[in-house]
Amino acid sequence: MNQIIDGKKFSQTLRDKVKNCVDLIKEKKGITPGLAVILVGEDPASQVYVRNKGKQTIEAGMNSYEHKLDASTSSEVLLNLIKKLNKDANVHGILCQLPLPKHLNEKEVINSIDPEKDVDGFHISNVGLLNTGQKSMIPCTPLGCLLLLKDRIGNLSGKSAVIVGRSNIVGKPMANLLLQENCTVTIAHSRTENIESVCAQADIIVTAVGRPEMIKKEWVKPGATVIDVGINRVIKKIDGVEKTVLVGDVCFSDMAGVAAGVTPVPGGVGPMTIACLLANTVTASYRSQGLSDPEFI
Ligand code: NDP
Repeated sequence: MNQIIDGKKFSQTLRDKVKNCVDLIKEKKGITPGLAVILVGEDPASQVYVRNKGKQTIEAGMNSYEHKLDASTSSEVLLNLIKKLNKDANVHGILCQLPLPKHLNEKEVINSIDPEKDVDGFHISNVGLLNTGQKSMIPCTPLGCLLLLKDRIGNLSGKSAVIVGRSNIVGKPMANLLLQENCTVTIAHSRTENIESVCAQADIIVTAVGRPEMIKKEWVKPGATVIDVGINRVIKKIDGVEKTVLVGDVCFSDMAGVAAGVTPVPGGVGPMTIACLLANTVTASYRSQGLSDPEFI
């Protein structure tokens, strides 16, 4: 079996499925799913993300609505825009690109989005629904990791999984999703003692830390599946020239002959995140019409 878990390829298949679901709802209900993305300020990385999201939304046959606001936008203006989008029947998904400028309260902004349109899955209602095993909007990155794991392993029941990182956007929802799949889940973080041996017990490791190449081969049980969410910019000498490259939290070259499967960075989890955002938008549009959720697994 190929050791590399190709997120780029898998995300293309997912986007094709999304497009089919879009075509179906257009035909059945005469509506086009729409995603509104709000960008406040000019953070260069956020601008790239928003551009990619818009492009892929349109490629999937959906409507994309971009709202670019000045960095000094007041909380009142932003909340009023969200109120308007909450009521807009052409908008099925709303995403507010994070991070927001410091003067805005992220929690307040996210919790002002209609939970049914919260395609990032960050609204407190969706967090609660996911934690209690109810139907919710699932955050895109953990959903992408789950799809890759199910595709590679099949039934996850009984597997032992270690998640490294306990953030609200990746680590915690990932742990909940794997619990729902009947994995035995451990969450490791910066205070975990003997973290290397904790990881070395796992059938599945998901890392969302932000520390370049932290996970070495000694951390990984032979035959384990390793999903690397981390994105780190480092300077490496390539052919004698120093270049900025992207690496994950996992030392990828160490995984040869150890992990049964590993996601590369780039080309692993990253492309899955936007594909899952599109999938969530379609799901939101189906729910808005009283249709059952499209199946992406
Ligand atoms: P956060 O900074 O919110 O969380 C990082 C987590 O890592 C924390 O729980 C922290 O522990 C833990 N941690 C830090 N240092 C260590 C250590 N030495 N050993 C063990 N645990 C440690 O990050 P995010 O979850 O937002 O993102 C994590 C990474 O994933 C980043 O590189 C980010 O760029 C990437 N990312 C990629 C996405 C994608 O689409 N591919 C999407 C989202 C994020 P503690 O809580 O104790 O501080």
